[in-house]
This record gives sequence, C-alpha cells and structure tokens, in this order.
Amino acid sequence: MKVFEKAPAKINLSLDVLYKREDGFHEVEMVMAMVDLADRLEMEAIPRDTIMISSQAGYIPLDEKNLAFKAAKLLKERCGVRQGVYIHLDKHIPVAAGLAGGSSDAAAALRGLNRLWDLGLSQTELQQLGEELGSDVPYCIAGGTVLATGRGEKLQPLPPLPPCWVVIAKPPINVSTADVYGRLRADQIENHPPTGRMVEGLRNQDWLAICGALGNVLEEVTFQLHPEVRRIKETMLRLGADGALMSGSGPTVFALAAKSSRARRIYNGLKGFCKEVYVVRILT
Ligand code: ATP
Repeated sequence: MKVFEKAPAKINLSLDVLYKREDGFHEVEMVMAMVDLADRLEMEAIPRDTIMISSQAGYIPLDEKNLAFKAAKLLKERCGVRQGVYIHLDKHIPVAAGLAGGSSDAAAALRGLNRLWDLGLSQTELQQLGEELGSDVPYCIAGGTVLATGRGEKLQPLPPLPPCWVVIAKPPINVSTADVYGRLRADQIENHPPTGRMVEGLRNQDWLAICGALGNVLEEVTFQLHPEVRRIKETMLRLGADGALMSGSGPTVFALAAKSSRARRIYNGLKGFCKEVYVVRILT
C-alpha cells in the first residue's frame, strides 16, 4: 500500500520575537501562509520493520537526520508500530531557505503515515507530536494562513491573502536558522513589526494595509551577514512589488503583486542574477 502527501512551503508575512524564554526558545508572533511550491512524499509499506528514505535531491541528509525520517521514527515509537516504510522525497522547496521545507516534510510524513498505518490520530495529536520535531511542524500540519504564538505552536486561523502573485527568490547562499536566532538580541529590538495591523489587514482584506504591515525582525540580522539579501528585496520593490519581505531567517525573499504583469516583471528582473526564482500562489 502507498500514500502520497504534498508538503508545501511556508512564507512569513510577519515575524516578531518578543523575548528569549528560559527554556531557550524564543517567544514569537508570526503570521504565516502556505504557497503552492511543494515537496511531494510517497510512502510505501514494506515487509521489513525499518525506515528507508530516498530523494532525487543530493543535498539533504538521507538518514536519521532527515526530518521525514525523524517523523516516521517518532510515530513508530509512540504508537508501537511494527511495520516498515519506504519514503521517497521529491524535493522542490529550496533547502535551508526560510521556507520550512524540512518541517513541511516532517508534517507530511506524520499525516501520511497516520493514514498508511491506520493510527487514527487526530490533527491535534499530530500537532502535539510535531512540536517535538520542530517549532514550525505544528503549523505545517494545520496549514492555511495563521497567527502563530508561543514558540510557534499556538495557532489562530486567519483569512488568506486576497488573490495575488508571490514571487520567491532564493539567492545561492546558506543561512543557518540557529545562527541567525543566536545573533538576535531579543531585548534590543527597536522596530517590531506591526503584527496587529497585519492581522487586521487580513481580516479586512485590505491589500494596502497588508503590504504596509509586512515585517520580520530577523531581516536586519541576515542583511548584516549577507547584504545581497537586502539588495534582492530592494530590487523587488524597484521592479514594482506591492510589498517584499525576507521569509523566516532567510535568505529567501518574496514579493507580493496584485497584478500578474508586475509579478512577471519582478520574475524577469531577478532571473538574471538569481537562479532560484518562482512565481507561486497562496494556498487557501
Ligand atoms: P526553517 O524555515 O524551518 O528554519 P529552512 O527552510 O530554513 O527551515 P530546511 O530546508 O528545513 O530549512 O533545512 C534546514 C536543515 O535541515 C538543512 O540543513 C537540511 O540539511 C536539514 N534537513 C533535514 N531534513 C530535511 C528535509 N526533509 N528537507 C530539507 N532539509 C532537511
């Protein structure tokens, strides 16, 4: 028996860090949405009681370090599953990009294996398990557009962005999420993004308010490390983006455009010096 799951990429419409908690995690406020750039997971039951993983992408770990592997191992342990699985990961989301590719793969593995092994876990139970794998995994299980608080696991659904185009550009540099958070001085942030205005903008479907409320406290940290990320954002705005923002800890930057002609202009303008550029839509 085989099951298939899509693992879409997420973007941050806003990302704020309130303070560093005693448990080492950051208390955050994030508005997140999913886009139709996705990995695809194929999960097949195998006779041997083992987890096997493969991918066409040579640049991710294909052992117990892979987040989809970790998800399968966690489910097997917690639910006492004695069956094996072969997971094939068809990777399309850029890696270490700020798009939560690994977290979304883990979420898709939890969803898919819950079906393959007929475990009957509820979405809430899957989200609780997902939290053990990473702060973004509960959101990747729930999907949609949300306000995420706590360490990212408390989710409030929001209306999606009004219909628009999203141009995603990933420069060829690697950014470590842990390094960016490590360099952030949570007690010295001067410009917090206006999360409340973003939430209101979405509730009122007010495009100008939404574009004006885009904000990410990690941008300055990554911009200092990699000035080309700032240049991509500036280029997007110069090319007519209604708004632009770095996603997560970067280095991916996305532009919002209400008109397809503008999205095309941004795509064409960036394609020359950025190999990984995509035009995508928001998943509702
Ligand atoms: P986030 O936005 O959650 O910080 P990201 O988009 O920055 O995530 P990922 O693509 O999830 O980053 O990759 C982060 C690290 O996780 C990489 O160094 C990669 O080697 C490792 N990794 C483990 N499993 C996966 C997976 N299934 N897909 C991609 N990367 C994975």
